Amino acid sequence: MQFTPALLPSLIQAIAETIEKNAEEVTALDQAIGDGDHVINLQRGIQALRPQSAELGQLDWAAAWQKIGMTLMSTMGGASGSLYGTLFITMSKAGRERALKLPAFAEVFSQGVTAVKQRGKADAGEKTMLDVLIPVAESLKQAAADSAALPEALKKITEAAIAGMESTRDMVATKGRASFLGERSRGHIDAGAKTAQLIICTIADVLAGHSATPS
Ligand code: ADP
Ligand code: MG
Repeated sequence: MQFTPALLPSLIQAIAETIEKNAEEVTALDQAIGDGDHVINLQRGIQALRPQSAELGQLDWAAAWQKIGMTLMSTMGGASGSLYGTLFITMSKAGRERALKLPAFAEVFSQGVTAVKQRGKADAGEKTMLDVLIPVAESLKQAAADSAALPEALKKITEAAIAGMESTRDMVATKGRASFLGERSRGHIDAGAKTAQLIICTIADVLAGHSATPS
C-alpha cells in the first residue's frame, strides 16, 4: 500500500474538523499551564493550509511537505508553529526521491522528530508534543521492522499517540511556558501533546478508511 499526496485535501479537512471539535478542551488544557492560545495558533495554520489543499494534492511528497512546513512556520506563531514547521521542512529534505511506503516514511518521520527535538532543545519526558511524536516515530519504525500490515500498524500508532498524550499528565514541564509553573504543571495533560495525538489519530483514521476502500 502506497499513499500519495492526493490524500492531503481530505487529511487537512479531517484534521480541521477534529481540532474544531476539541478546541474548547485543548484551550482549557493550555489555559491551565500555558497561555491558552495553542488552538488559535494551530487553527491559524490549518486555515492557511486549506486554500492550498488542491495544489498540495498535485505535488510530490517532498514538495508538499516543504510547502506545508513553510506555511505553518509563517502563519501559526507560538512555539508550536516553528516546531511543526521544522518537522515538515525536515521531512521534505529527508523525503526526496523516496517512495512513500511504510519503512521509508518511518525513517523520514523519525528524522523530522529528531529535528524538532534539536529545535526545541527538548526530549521525551519534558511534557511537550514530543511525548507523542517520539513514541509514534518509534512505533512506525517497529511496524516497518515487523513488516506489519497497515491496519495493525495504524492501530499501534494510535495506541502510542494516546499513551504518549496521557503520559504527559504526571510529568513536570521543563520546556515551554508550562515550565514556569514547575511542580504545579503536574496533573494536567500538555495541550501540544493533546493536539499532536488528535492529529495523528485523525490521520490514522483517514488512512484506515482509505485503505479499506477498494480501488
Ligand atoms: P506558546 O507556548 O509559544 O504559546 P503554543 O501555545 O502554540 O505556543 O504551543 C505550546 C505547545 O508547544 C506546548 O503545549 C508544548 O507541547 C509545545 N512546546 C513548547 N515548547 C516546546 C519545546 N521546547 N519542545 C517541544 N515542544 C514544545
Ligand atoms: Mg500558548
